[in-house]
Amino acid sequence: MLKRARAALPEKTLAYERFEPPVPETQIQGSKTILRNFELICTKLRREPALLSKYLSKELAVPATIDGGKLILHGKVYDRMLNEKLSNFISSYVVCKECKRPDTKLVDGAHGIRTLVCEACGARAPAK
Ligand SMILES: [Zn+2]
Repeated sequence: MLKRARAALPEKTLAYERFEPPVPETQIQGSKTILRNFELICTKLRREPALLSKYLSKELAVPATIDGGKLILHGKVYDRMLNEKLSNFISSYVVCKECKRPDTKLVDGAHGIRTLVCEACGARAPAK
């Protein structure tokens, strides 16, 4: 069924496959790391700031607070680590597992299980 849906897509949608993940702009200030373009990243990924903030805080094992459009990570976080966590977040919560496009939405299901639903090809996958 998925195969048929994919074959029916017009050619031009392939342009989305060149999705460029946003690059985090960080600044270390004392013992804190400021993610300066946090809001832009959330907008580009179409995800709630609270979701990404919670994810990064858990994965990097540092507390995080949202301050305006910025994210303050209460610890020293190096770009390499942050890039890695952000790309994990994108593959778990943003990009469709089937067609690899970012045109997806998260749907809350029963028992706190979230499903990643693709608006392009219709694929559904549990987000974890
Ligand atoms: Zn898809």
